[in-house]
Amino acid sequence: MRGKGHLMLAIPLYVLSVKYLSRTPELLLSPFFAFYCLTTMVGALFPDIDWAIDRVISGFGHRNPLTHSLLGPLLLYIPLFSYKVSHPLLINSYNAFTLGIATHLFGDLIKTGNLTWIKSRKLEHVWYVLNGIMLAVLLYMTDFLEVLHLGASTINFINPFS
Ligand SMILES: [Zn+2]
Repeated sequence: MRGKGHLMLAIPLYVLSVKYLSRTPELLLSPFFAFYCLTTMVGALFPDIDWAIDRVISGFGHRNPLTHSLLGPLLLYIPLFSYKVSHPLLINSYNAFTLGIATHLFGDLIKTGNLTWIKSRKLEHVWYVLNGIMLAVLLYMTDFLEVLHLGASTINFINPFS
């Protein structure tokens, strides 16, 4: 899937997940909602920075497993959620960005996005699905997703260092 397709997939999936899957459907009415949509678009395009990296590091290739994974959101998670108080604007942007990446992986999964380095088609599918699940877990940990919420009391977000 290419850029335009990723964007056309990401925006409706972001809006629907805020409305039906998130703990904060009121975000839809937030004056910042357009900004969050923009952040989702950045997330949806982010994995394809491997095009640019490939120009510097030859052999990195397009659809590199490192950019098509949870690595980016995971690296951002640590500084962002190391403090008890993170600004809601940052948290919501982080969630929108992470969801954008998840939709990118989903798009590449359904529209035969061959990964570099991983030769087996079956392993590619496993890679996309596992990383997608881990991204959903990250979104749960940042208190965005309610779908994984199994009756435990809601904390603001889970601090990995507390
Ligand atoms: Zn891609």
